[in-house]
Amino acid sequence: MVMQTQKSLDEFRNEPFVDYSVAENADAMRAAIEEVRTELGREYPLVINGERITTEKSFESINPAEKSQVVGIFSDADADAQNLTEQAIDAATNAFQLWKQVSPADRAEYLFKAAAIIRDRKHYYSAWMVFETGKTWAEADGDTAEAIDFLEFYGREMLNWAGHLPVTPSPYPENNTFEYIPLGVGAIIPPWNFPLAIMAGMTMAAVVCGNTTVLKPSPDAPTIAYKFMEVLEEAGLPAGVVNFVPGSGTAVGEHLVASPKIRFISFTGSKTVGLHIYEEAAKTRPGQKWMKRVVAEMGGKDAIIVCDDADLDSAAEGVVQAAFGFQGQKCSACSRLIVDEKVHDELMEKIVALTNQIKVGLPTDGDTQMTAVINQKSFDKATSMINKGIEEGGKVLTGGGGDSANGFYVEPTIIDDVAPGATIEQEEIFAPVLAVIKAKDYDHALEIANGTDYGLTGAVYSTTQANLDRARRDFHVGNLYLNRKCTGALVGVHPFGGFNMSGTDSKAGGREYLLQFMQGKSIAQKN
Ligand code: NAD
Repeated sequence: MVMQTQKSLDEFRNEPFVDYSVAENADAMRAAIEEVRTELGREYPLVINGERITTEKSFESINPAEKSQVVGIFSDADADAQNLTEQAIDAATNAFQLWKQVSPADRAEYLFKAAAIIRDRKHYYSAWMVFETGKTWAEADGDTAEAIDFLEFYGREMLNWAGHLPVTPSPYPENNTFEYIPLGVGAIIPPWNFPLAIMAGMTMAAVVCGNTTVLKPSPDAPTIAYKFMEVLEEAGLPAGVVNFVPGSGTAVGEHLVASPKIRFISFTGSKTVGLHIYEEAAKTRPGQKWMKRVVAEMGGKDAIIVCDDADLDSAAEGVVQAAFGFQGQKCSACSRLIVDEKVHDELMEKIVALTNQIKVGLPTDGDTQMTAVINQKSFDKATSMINKGIEEGGKVLTGGGGDSANGFYVEPTIIDDVAPGATIEQEEIFAPVLAVIKAKDYDHALEIANGTDYGLTGAVYSTTQANLDRARRDFHVGNLYLNRKCTGALVGVHPFGGFNMSGTDSKAGGREYLLQFMQGKSIAQKN
């Protein structure tokens, strides 16, 4: 007899990562890369209410590591942004009338089906990320695993919130119930850097709560989002629940945010755009019946503190992985190393040696550890920030160069002697550029670490428990790591989201995440 597992948050476990040192796994990934290669350069439409809509104007998504290679050609909603965005919002509004009546358990089932579809062909989805966003095999696999995790986790979380929730017994003769109901139509505006996991997680968290959505994918990763739309269709999700409108942030994004019919906005991206959306969403427009809810996850200037008593080998390894994994393009990436001056020289020797061993190359090659940054703008910003770091008194220990002839390659760069308050110590760069700041002692290190507008991730390396305990109390970040790197958050294990200008601390992959996409209804009936 087959035992049916009860799906609950308690039995949820993370999708295991693929071990590419196993020949069979490496062969499967190579085959997926070749399969995707044959599918490059195809044309993709908008999807509104299940219907394909093609526009005359289009834009290309390219491979950042080989920029002449076109990954996908997209119908561009910008040409008629107002009209197409309205159509998508109307489709979502109509679909909402039926979707909100589907039971939470049935809604969750679509997420479990989507997870199963992706799991069955995981190398295929990872391979798309290799081509479209310059992810190495391991980084792409991590993204695919996280997407599966979000679907499995949010499905279970919905089951947890479904039905009538406990209330205090009433002193009156009445029957009382409390339940969560959906909000309405949401705008989903994801970034490109976790093109499957974050995009799918943001979209389906809203959907499983009974909302319907308009998804505007990042112009740097639209093909992966389209592939996810195909997964949803295969899973049988009703038309109109997720509508797909590729275009720019400044046209499609602005219209979505401004629409009085949009009930909530789920955004992940930069601080500048996040703050702008927050402000625009606060304006009430004619016909608007609600205050829009904004869930915004934004940037970081994440620091690793290394104390004078730390295990320096372990710290060096953690810093290099967190600073240069996925070319420093994780919101959790270590972009500041704050080191006690007493161990500075010894630590830097180890870090520079490890950094110089990083194999930079094409993401399609299985042994590549670092590849190109996402686009020209990102390359230019990294280059100008490196120059700024030098101008402001920093000393380049390794890297510092770049080459954008074939792809947007920035060398893994370490800038030492950066002063607290310097531009590269304060501003997010989102590239493989690490600023090193010397601290006089642990007090000073914490002061520097907390001295930015952000508060996303942080780590402390120390062998003294009292130092680690102090970090728990005084290091003001949403995700704190002790004696380990500050990247690699796992769904359910490390609910993710930051303080201050890093966002609304929504804690993606946490047990209360879904509450942001629902509203509570209390009903009292007199006996
Ligand atoms: P971005 O802010 O440039 O773009 C994010 C999304 O917003 C894209 O879909 C974009 O098209 C859209 N957009 C741009 N302008 C808009 C506007 N005026 N109105 C509406 N939408 C608009 O960010 P990005 O480069 O895609 O992503 C990188 C950023 O995301 C970094 O700052 C990183 O730290 C942050 N990030 C944060 C988290 C987190 O959980 N805190 C996770 C991943 C990425």
